[in-house]
Amino acid sequence: MKSYIVGNWKMNFSVGESSVYLHKLSQKLRASRGLTVVVSPSFVALQPLSLQIDRKKLRLAAQAGNPHDFGAYTGAVSYTQLRGIVDYGIIGHSERRQLFHESDKDIRASVAAALRNQITPILCVGETETEHTFGETEDVIRDQLLGGLSEVSTEDISKVIIAYEPIWAISTTTDAHLASPDEIGDVAGFIRRTLKDTYGAATAKEIPLLYGGSVNPSNAGGYLTIPEINGLLVGGASLIADQFIDIIEIAKKVQD
Ligand code: PEP
Repeated sequence: MKSYIVGNWKMNFSVGESSVYLHKLSQKLRASRGLTVVVSPSFVALQPLSLQIDRKKLRLAAQAGNPHDFGAYTGAVSYTQLRGIVDYGIIGHSERRQLFHESDKDIRASVAAALRNQITPILCVGETETEHTFGETEDVIRDQLLGGLSEVSTEDISKVIIAYEPIWAISTTTDAHLASPDEIGDVAGFIRRTLKDTYGAATAKEIPLLYGGSVNPSNAGGYLTIPEINGLLVGGASLIADQFIDIIEIAKKVQD
């Protein structure tokens, strides 16, 4: 299966800085058939970067989107408006769920809106530290998966990417809080089984499953060799061009 390295820049970089970063990345990257590299800048940078980007090397993702096509939604940007600008949309990121109170209903509507606008949803799921501690991970992941995907047909599920991001392992600075490959492998296996129950074995095994949570050049190789994992969603380390490029190079080696 193809693999993916996705950089989530969150609310960082001015438009000018985003453009300089993208230029640097583009100069260092060679197109690779088996690996798709995606970056996700702020809304303001998406349109200018879409004119600059070499789509053979890189693709763009939105960090969020509004599921309505047009209308009186002050401050919002819809997937219809993003169509043709981005190829991917990060949906249900834990920061969107926690800080912007996005519910599974909102997330489900966003997945549907992205799909009808030819944007590939990257649906994020992940449990909090408390849920992890109390052994609730599988229940939470099942609810988020089924909640986000309940309107997605068997035909459309092949256009969806899932990202497992345990919230307790995001942007952590201590190794104690990193998720271990075994822990990730267990949850990834559970996600795959849940998808299989809904969409059948043949379809489920083709759905790309990414891992995200404090990925850096030192741990990327270990995460990329977890059997069920097909790529990485990178936050902090994607802001440092050299680190992001190192992670991409590691992913290429694992692919070969
Ligand atoms: C994220 O927020 O999606 C993420 C994975 O961040 P970080 O790599 O900084 O943990």
